[in-house]
Amino acid sequence: MIMGTLFDHEGKKIDECLALVFVGPNSHTGEDSVEFHCHGSEPVVRKLEEALLHLGAVPAQPGEFSYRAHLNGKISAVEVEDLGDVYLAKDTADLEKIYSRKDGSLSERISALREHLLKTQAILDTAVDFSEEYSDVIGQAKAPLIQTIHECSEITQRYSRFKTGSTVPRLVLAGKPNAGKSSLFNALLGRYRAIVHEEAGTTRDVIEEDIEVQGRRWKLVDTAGFRESSEAREKEGIELGESFLSAASFWILVVDGSRGISLDEENLLEKHGTKPHLVVWNKKDLNQWAAPEGKWYGKSVHPLSAKTSEGINELWSKLDSELSKKESTGPLPTAVEASRLEKALGLMKELLARLEKNELPEYLAEINREATRALESVVGEVGTEDVLDRVFGEFCIGK
Ligand code: GDP
Repeated sequence: MIMGTLFDHEGKKIDECLALVFVGPNSHTGEDSVEFHCHGSEPVVRKLEEALLHLGAVPAQPGEFSYRAHLNGKISAVEVEDLGDVYLAKDTADLEKIYSRKDGSLSERISALREHLLKTQAILDTAVDFSEEYSDVIGQAKAPLIQTIHECSEITQRYSRFKTGSTVPRLVLAGKPNAGKSSLFNALLGRYRAIVHEEAGTTRDVIEEDIEVQGRRWKLVDTAGFRESSEAREKEGIELGESFLSAASFWILVVDGSRGISLDEENLLEKHGTKPHLVVWNKKDLNQWAAPEGKWYGKSVHPLSAKTSEGINELWSKLDSELSKKESTGPLPTAVEASRLEKALGLMKELLARLEKNELPEYLAEINREATRALESVVGEVGTEDVLDRVFGEFCIGK
């Protein structure tokens, strides 16, 4: 690493900076490269870029560094795919799924699904030979096919959910104004203060923060901003909370334990009680606090004080076990595997549609053979061509 002063082409000083030199082939790309470590303000970076362009440098394309590394034999196509997904990982559970791809569980699933298609094949081949019992025989071919379509869709959807990040479930704090939702929100975040960040685009009335529970990312949602105690505002607060409850995967009813339960809160519980939830009896530090004896609405309540944090660790332990029950299972395919699976899925869906129209068994048997081959190719060799557009093209510039 060399320290020096950067000047532009007119000899004007840009910055003091460090240059890190990588001599090929022992670099990420396998080629000679230099990294500049400058002060990160916008004019410094812009002037440095201009100076480099003036010297004949060209801007990198998306994924260009990984692409060069691949062409120079530094990383395989499979590693490139994993790398692409590592950039997309939103929590440690995603990372674990990416790194456990080598354990062969997708191959096992695909082999099991292939067996279903072989069953369908045997039935269709029989139908070719015994055409008089055609309709009976054809009917039997549907069940294994439908099951295969269902499972394949599940696998491809797993990848698209991973990619779009739409899997982040919401944990909503609900209850009356002044029950202590915001205080609980802050107390819960205390544990994760180091990794939480403000969510862009949230409304004034709703606060969301990312939390990680057992390796899974969740959005903790507080319907704050409705704290006035006038009857109309309270109703509005409850209504807003309710709309968020509909989209929640898990919710916590926060009750002011010094005042007890109100009709509004009972209604909330009756309406959303089938959705996984916990009931927190807050403000335990106050003298007037009293928890219900025994079970309440069929469940035990969790006593705590958001103010003193008494009971917060116990609530986290409960959340750790309750929320991890919702963990989705099954292997995560790569982008290439998912797209190959889509192709097989298209053929299977076509086969099902044609089966329902009672088309000729010879024809159906041929589509099934094609679908089986497509399914077998899902976990086949991955080459440069496979990952060229799909993976490199989607990388950020500089990756
Ligand atoms: P929200 O309207 O449900 O979000 O309630 P807040 O979190 O804003 O709390 C309402 C009031 O109750 C505030 O004055 C808090 O300081 C107070 N509060 C919240 N939790 C506790 C608690 O555990 N103990 C005590 N004594 N006060 C609390």
